[in-house]
Amino acid sequence: MVRTAKRILLSVPHMGGNERRYVNEAFDTNWLSTVGPNLTALENEFTSLTGRPAVALANGTAGLHLAMRLAGVGNGDEVIVPTLTFSASVNPILYEQARPVFLDSEPRGWNLDPNLLAEFLAQRARVGRLPKAVVVVHLFGLSAALNEIQEICQRHGVSLIEDAAESLGARYHERHPGTFGEMGVFSFNGNKMITGTTGGMLVAKNAAKAEQARKWSQQARDADPLGVNNYVHSELGFNYRMSNVVAGIVRGQLEILETRVEQRRAVFERYLAGLAAVPGLTPQAESAGCRHTRWLSCFQVDENQFGMTAPDLIRWLDAANVEARPVWRPMHTQPLYKNFECIGGSVADALNRQGICLPSSSSLSEAEQRFVIEQIRSAHGRA
Ligand SMILES: *Cc1c(COP(=O)(O)O)cnc(C)c1O
Repeated sequence: MVRTAKRILLSVPHMGGNERRYVNEAFDTNWLSTVGPNLTALENEFTSLTGRPAVALANGTAGLHLAMRLAGVGNGDEVIVPTLTFSASVNPILYEQARPVFLDSEPRGWNLDPNLLAEFLAQRARVGRLPKAVVVVHLFGLSAALNEIQEICQRHGVSLIEDAAESLGARYHERHPGTFGEMGVFSFNGNKMITGTTGGMLVAKNAAKAEQARKWSQQARDADPLGVNNYVHSELGFNYRMSNVVAGIVRGQLEILETRVEQRRAVFERYLAGLAAVPGLTPQAESAGCRHTRWLSCFQVDENQFGMTAPDLIRWLDAANVEARPVWRPMHTQPLYKNFECIGGSVADALNRQGICLPSSSSLSEAEQRFVIEQIRSAHGRA
C-alpha cells in the first residue's frame, strides 16, 4: 500500500496574508475584546457582500440559536429541518425546548425537498398545526431551491431561517444564499470556506431583528437611565459576541473569498477530469443558475459500478493517509433524535450510505490531488 507521508486532510484553513495585519492592529491598539474596529469593519464588509444588516458572533451555532429566538421558537413548537445535515442545524431547536420535524432531501442536489415541504405544510395548514419555522441548509456549498422554499413559507406565514454555514460565496440566481429567509447564518469554523479559527455571522432581513440579536449576544443589557452602566436586564441574554481578534482573521479571509471559491471549484473540476473514466461516481449536481462553491467535493458511489462501497473507499483512502468522509449521517438515525418525526428519509439514508466527501482544501496541491485520484482509480481497478 502506498501512503503519503503527510496526511491529506478533508478541508484545512488557508490564510491569505492580511489576516495577521488586522490581528496585529488589534494587539497594537489593545482592542483585545469583544468590541473593536475589526468587528465594526467586518460587519460592514459582510453587509456589502449580502446586502443585509450583519451581527458578528462567536460561532455559527450561536447564530442559529439567536435565529430561533428571533423567529419566536419556544417550548413545544415544531421546526422543520432537513434530516441530511450536521447536528448544529438541529441542536438550537432543542436549546429552546422545541421539536424538530425532519424532512427528506431531493436526490440531485441533496438539499431539502421543496415538494415534500409544500405537501407537509399544506397538510398541516388544513389541520391548523403549522410549524413555527423552517430551517433550510445549503449543503456543501450548494443552495437549496430557495425560490420555491421561500414562496411555500410565505404562503403559510412560516418563518424561514437559512443555515448558510456551508455556503459562503455561493450564488442562487445572482443572490447570496442566506439572504432569502428572515434570518441567515454563516460559519467561520476552521474547516469552512474561510475561517477565523471559529466565528459566525447572523444576517437579518429586518434591521431591528439584527439589533435584537446583537443585544442578546452581549448579555442583553438595556440602556441605563442614569447613564453609568448600572446594567438593567429585562430579558435573557447570552455571551455570543465574536472577539475583535477573530474578526481580524475573518476580515483578511473575506478579502480573498472569491479566490478561495475559485480554487475549490478548480479542485472539483480536477476530480471530474481525473475520474471521468471511472464508472459509478456521481457528483452532487449544480443546478441551473446557481454557483456551487464546492466547499466540499462530494460524490455518490454506486457499489455495483465502482466495485466498492463508499465506506470501503473511505477506509481505502485512509490506508493511503488520505482523509475522506461520508455525507452527513441523517438526523433521524441519530440516537439523540430518533424519537422525532421524519417525513421520508430514504433519499438521505441512501446519500449517507453512498456519499463520500473528498479532500477539498483550497490549498490542496495538484500533486496531492493526483495522488488522491490515483488511489481512487486503484480502488476501482482492484475490484
Ligand atoms: C459548520 C456548520 C454549522 C455550525 O457552525 P459553527 O460555526 O461550527 O458553530 C452549522 N450548520 C452546518 C450545516 C455546518 O456545516
